[in-house]
Amino acid sequence: MSEVLRSLQSAQEHEVLAYWERHKIFERSVNDRPESRPYTFYDGPPFATGLPHYGHIVASVIKDVVPRYWTMKGYRVERRWGWDCHGLPIENIVEKKFDLKSKKDILEYGVGKFNESCEAQVLEYAEDWKTVIRRLGRWVDMDNAYRTMDVPFMESIWWVFRNLWDKGLIYEGYKPMHMCPRCETTLSNFEVAQGYLDVTDITTTVAVELTSGSYAGAKALIWTTTPWTLPGNVLLAVGADMEYCLVESAGEKYVVSKSRVEHVFKDQDHKLVETFIGNKLSESTYDPIFPYFLDHANAFRVVAADFVSDDSGTGIVHIAPAFGEDDMVLGEAENVKPLFHVKMNGQFVPEVADPLEAEGYKVTGVPMKAKGTYSDVDIQIIKWLAHKGKLFAKEKVVHSYPHCWRCDTPLLNYTASSWFVKVSSMNDELVKNNESINWVPDNMKQGRFGKWLEGARDWAISRSRFWGTPLPVWKSEDGHVYVIGSKAELEKLVGHEVKDLHKHVIDNLTFTVDGREYKRIPEVLDCWFESGSMPYSQLHYPFENQAGFAKKFPAEFIAEGQDQTRGWFYTLHVLANSLFGKPAFKNVIVNGTVLAEDGKKMSKRLNNYPDPMMVMEKYGADAVRYYLMSTPVVHAGDIRFAESGVDEVGKKFITILRNCLSFYKLYAEHDDGREPNEKHVLDAWILARLHQTLETETQTLEAYELADSARVLQSFVTDLSTWYVRRSRDRMKTAGEDRAEALATLRTVLGTFSKMLAPFMPFLAEVVYQEINKKPWDGKGESVHLASWPEAAKVNKKSLEAMGEVRAIVSRIMEVRDQAGKAVKQVLGHVTIVTPSGKLSKALLAVILDEVNVKQATVEKGSELTVELDLTLTPELVREGMARELTRRVNGLRKDAGLTIADRIVLKVWSKSDEVQTMFKEHAKDIAADTLASKIDFAPGIDTTKQLEFRVAEQDIWIGF
Ligand SMILES: [Zn+2]
Repeated sequence: MSEVLRSLQSAQEHEVLAYWERHKIFERSVNDRPESRPYTFYDGPPFATGLPHYGHIVASVIKDVVPRYWTMKGYRVERRWGWDCHGLPIENIVEKKFDLKSKKDILEYGVGKFNESCEAQVLEYAEDWKTVIRRLGRWVDMDNAYRTMDVPFMESIWWVFRNLWDKGLIYEGYKPMHMCPRCETTLSNFEVAQGYLDVTDITTTVAVELTSGSYAGAKALIWTTTPWTLPGNVLLAVGADMEYCLVESAGEKYVVSKSRVEHVFKDQDHKLVETFIGNKLSESTYDPIFPYFLDHANAFRVVAADFVSDDSGTGIVHIAPAFGEDDMVLGEAENVKPLFHVKMNGQFVPEVADPLEAEGYKVTGVPMKAKGTYSDVDIQIIKWLAHKGKLFAKEKVVHSYPHCWRCDTPLLNYTASSWFVKVSSMNDELVKNNESINWVPDNMKQGRFGKWLEGARDWAISRSRFWGTPLPVWKSEDGHVYVIGSKAELEKLVGHEVKDLHKHVIDNLTFTVDGREYKRIPEVLDCWFESGSMPYSQLHYPFENQAGFAKKFPAEFIAEGQDQTRGWFYTLHVLANSLFGKPAFKNVIVNGTVLAEDGKKMSKRLNNYPDPMMVMEKYGADAVRYYLMSTPVVHAGDIRFAESGVDEVGKKFITILRNCLSFYKLYAEHDDGREPNEKHVLDAWILARLHQTLETETQTLEAYELADSARVLQSFVTDLSTWYVRRSRDRMKTAGEDRAEALATLRTVLGTFSKMLAPFMPFLAEVVYQEINKKPWDGKGESVHLASWPEAAKVNKKSLEAMGEVRAIVSRIMEVRDQAGKAVKQVLGHVTIVTPSGKLSKALLAVILDEVNVKQATVEKGSELTVELDLTLTPELVREGMARELTRRVNGLRKDAGLTIADRIVLKVWSKSDEVQTMFKEHAKDIAADTLASKIDFAPGIDTTKQLEFRVAEQDIWIGF
């Protein structure tokens, strides 16, 4: 990181981090708040399988802003980090590391060794995470993180499982599910929903000869997008009342649904011979498409089914009960067992592979669908069909197809045994309990999340894998099930201590109850079941912390990305509803996706985004935090990450606020510590703006609308700098009441604003707070983050309106100056201002005249705001402009010479011009005051050929004019 040029902000952030740690500010900010006022935050556990990316950073900043705010509101906000340790993400890494290509390889390698490798791998990036999270300024207890692989955590998961089992909410079933042939495990429906990609498939129309019934000898046309399922075909389905046709074409007779004839035979001469209803086809038999399972009981018949439609295809449906839900249900109804012609690893069984291979079709060891060999098997099948005269047509089609969310392998729809949570029995309660949750953005409630709840199907929670919390299920030979709810229960049953609950430790534990011997089933739990259990498991509830849990459930607040509506948000909701009949969280912020600047997904390979640590080092973490929090990404919107946007926060917010702070510090020695009053119109106005901003910020933070909250801070800083500070410069130059009042106001504004800034820009807030309180880093360990959230006073609306009018008038006058080409440095004599009220206080008028550099004004009443500027330049005005120009240049020279407001100069001027001499006679006093000159030496005798010349000698400034 050393090559990155740190901004002043970034350099100072490192000092602030050290200060916080030295004085344990985070710990104190939690522990100083009473336990009786908890505000519960749950952290969704990430996997430490890679470095944190911008998605994690967005969520992390949200998870920092909200707790910091509630802490300042006086609540005790404990923040405990969590690590997701189990599941496919880790297993896939270990498989790659040890070149384990299949489940068989893992079994040979040894489950114990494999699990130990997973454990060793789990926290590989934890230290990198700590570095990034610390640098980001996120306060969270990472030293005491919960880990889903710890025995107490796993034990609570068993308690959750057992509880659901006792309530009849868990069952074992045989269901068509999506299966990853590479990982050799079934996936839950929301895991499947995460991985749809467009693929090209070859749709195939196959001619199947009918061997009995009214149309024996004709060929039924069937259509499929999955040719690889054809060897598993056992039935053909037709619609009982749908119309079908016998069609003659090229000397053959075909059967197809009437409405599909023209589509199917679009390229061929054909003749309609007869029309009839589907029932006339049922109970016909047909010649099996592949000759490998000729003895399959009750198979190879045409049957009627109500799901058959003629929307696409041929109106005759190929049925393979092992590979689809309708297929399985129909197979059961027709008493035909599924034909498993494909193994869990996605390859053909030998009964199919061997004869095909013998005929020269390359299918042995080739998975049905895999990355890179997506259609290989389909192509072999189609070739075989063509060779046997059974291929009627083929066509390429692009469609959306599910892929494994971990390894990108195309999934297979596969009927398999799994354990389920009966979610479909609780849809109404899930929907009802969602009503009370505050979703940001609120359309998530009824939309993405609500819709998902309404249609939620049973959740497949078992995985045929290794590194996870084992299902606490033991079975006897005759099918009795024993579900264990705690470690102690297992120890009692097996008669000895059990130190670990992982699969390789408990798989061989057996016990006998009522004369039956029970053995463990092999499956482990879906890792989403584990993260959904974190409210209970992180506290080892109910084995420990019963009282603490009661206070900490449900959470006040959680936050994660949009994909979690089907992941963590969903599993938290399902489990809390099952266990306690209520939601697990009250408020939730859903963040969108951070895309690369080119609009594509951020990709290491494409190198299309800057490293987060580099950006933080360059511009400061505050700039990154504020940039992200002020975009729609905190409102489930997708954004394109632009480094220039972070840079802009640095320039338009951080630097500007720092300049306001420097301005205060320049005069701080004259600040007598008084309370501000609202005597001066500018003071009244900036205090009104401050409280207006505070009011909006507080309201939007309470509503968890972070972008709305962040944006008002920026516009306040702009007003503070471009109007209040700029217009107050002259007030600072002379000692007296007005200066004291201006300083009191600026101190109060910056002090209050530092607290308002604290949740979003914790570093800069700390700097401003320390400097304003004149005890920077004083060793006492004070901090803005230990302060209370400021109370908004009643906003002085009159003052805001009046200054609003003033600024409108100013911009009109500036427009006129602009059009007339009269730069603001040229003083003008008079302006007529027409306003609806016809009134402007003397003080406000003074602000206007000073700003627009006009000497006098008349205010008149009129229907709308207009200005009339007198552009005449009298010699007096020209000389006054000259004086101001001289002042400006001298102050430029002062600055170049590095002089401060404490330094006085002697101004030495020479000029041959009478006009300049007159100008000096008229304006010497003002020039001296404005350039902090103790003396002006006018030396007309010095001859120079140049118009303007100067030199700085010690503290003398010479200027020729
Ligand atoms: Zn996979």
